[in-house]
Amino acid sequence: MMLKPLVMLVDDEAPFIETMSKRLRKRDLTVLTALSGQKAIEKLEKNRNMDVVILDVKMPGMDGIETLGEIKKICPLTEVIMLTGHATVETSIEGMRLGAFDYLMKPCEMKILMEKVMEATEKKRAHEEKIRDAQVKESLTRHGLE
Ligand SMILES: [Mg+2]
Repeated sequence: MMLKPLVMLVDDEAPFIETMSKRLRKRDLTVLTALSGQKAIEKLEKNRNMDVVILDVKMPGMDGIETLGEIKKICPLTEVIMLTGHATVETSIEGMRLGAFDYLMKPCEMKILMEKVMEATEKKRAHEEKIRDAQVKESLTRHGLE
């Protein structure tokens, strides 16, 4: 059994955040929210074990791409799913080039979003495990135990 995914939802539209976070919590996710890229970064600095960030592309101030860059600087293993409208699909694809896990069109279907969140969480945790294994192996080698 996988541990509950820890997710942060970032969008400048409060009603969207409210509806979506309710839906995600109903599906047994732990959900943090942020109404701007700036707030998202502040929260991420305090919660560095975040599995997935669901990130709106179009936001005033720090936009999705800028926020993605900061997220990857602070928590390189945290996976990011970009949320986009028709007008910003290219931006989302650029986001994937910059390390985003995937993107979804708004309004997004819950079933598909959940699938992506679970996939991204598994990827992130497998990556963490790989790093832990490598550290153990390195330590054993260093001590002449292997
Ligand atoms: Mg927006």
